[in-house]
Amino acid sequence: MKQKDVIIIGSGPAGYTAAIYASRADLSPLMIMGHEPGGQLTTTTDVENFPGFPEGVMGPDLMVNMKSQAERFGTEYLTTQVTEVDLSKRPFHVKCENGDEFLAQTLIISTGASAKYLGLPNEKALIGKGVSGCATCDGFFYRNQIVHVVGGGDTAMEEAMFLSKFASKVTIVHRRDSFRASKPMQQRVFDNPKIDVLWNHSVTEILADQSGVTGIKVTHSETGEVNERATNGLFMGIGHTPNTKFLNNQIKLDDHGFIITNGAHPDTSIPGVFACGDVQDSYYRQAISAAGSGCEAAIRAERYLEENGHA
Ligand code: NAP
Repeated sequence: MKQKDVIIIGSGPAGYTAAIYASRADLSPLMIMGHEPGGQLTTTTDVENFPGFPEGVMGPDLMVNMKSQAERFGTEYLTTQVTEVDLSKRPFHVKCENGDEFLAQTLIISTGASAKYLGLPNEKALIGKGVSGCATCDGFFYRNQIVHVVGGGDTAMEEAMFLSKFASKVTIVHRRDSFRASKPMQQRVFDNPKIDVLWNHSVTEILADQSGVTGIKVTHSETGEVNERATNGLFMGIGHTPNTKFLNNQIKLDDHGFIITNGAHPDTSIPGVFACGDVQDSYYRQAISAAGSGCEAAIRAERYLEENGHA
């Protein structure tokens, strides 16, 4: 079984930054990229708040650049998913979906978070047939059609704005009477003539026929009144779940499944295992904060290896 000093699990801005730092420190890291190489930024368009890009940068381009930068210093990539880790003994044991197994002196976990769904009975079966967790991936298919977006945060605003480029009408369905999204994002939505908002409603049923989604039932949050609305697409903008299932509770997680780190440092409850990016951050969840935490995780891994006589 191949042994590595550093294995990075997950490939968003946190993982790539950790890879840049670890490879520049001559640690020849292996990155196991997961099913969505590049993570959430590959499903976004313009990123206007990542420092160094005065005109903004496309999310997928930023990820490709980070990947190349880490590759230049010797990061090795594997496009499979980690299914299981054994953290009970050292070196740690990592098992992958493609059958590969590795031993690692340190692990950097940067598996991010995935889009949440509402939990309606036919929702998952309709993914790809009108239900989506990613407007950037699927918006193109809704040219001149009617779509609804659920949620009231920045994700919902961004999804609605993106969809308005294609769809004839976008309605944001929000369960309260105000958004939690940042004010500039809200303003862009309010200023967009193609977008309207259905306040105080929840989507309680998805209507579909053989070809896919045809409509939704929405229920008023206070009166309980139910209405039917025609739609071709239903996009989820209700947040994300941290990808920590493969850890099988071997590391301390908070109530929402996010990895608990030491606060000042990216150390987890197991020495030698570090976490960075959205998988341990339910508060900032930004590309730049993820990248910063990736840098910290790599530096901590390097020092841990030195302190324990491995590097
Ligand atoms: P979020 O801020 O947690 O918002 C989730 C929204 O979905 C809330 O409005 C919430 O309603 C609603 N919601 C949650 N569960 C629901 C359910 N079961 N049914 C109906 N509605 C539900 O999540 P987010 O929008 O994904 O944003 C996460 C973080 O990423 C934020 O810090 C955000 O600023 C950042 N972000 C930034 C950008 C950007 O700058 N371009 C883009 C996307 C995200 P309530 O309001 O009633 O709780």
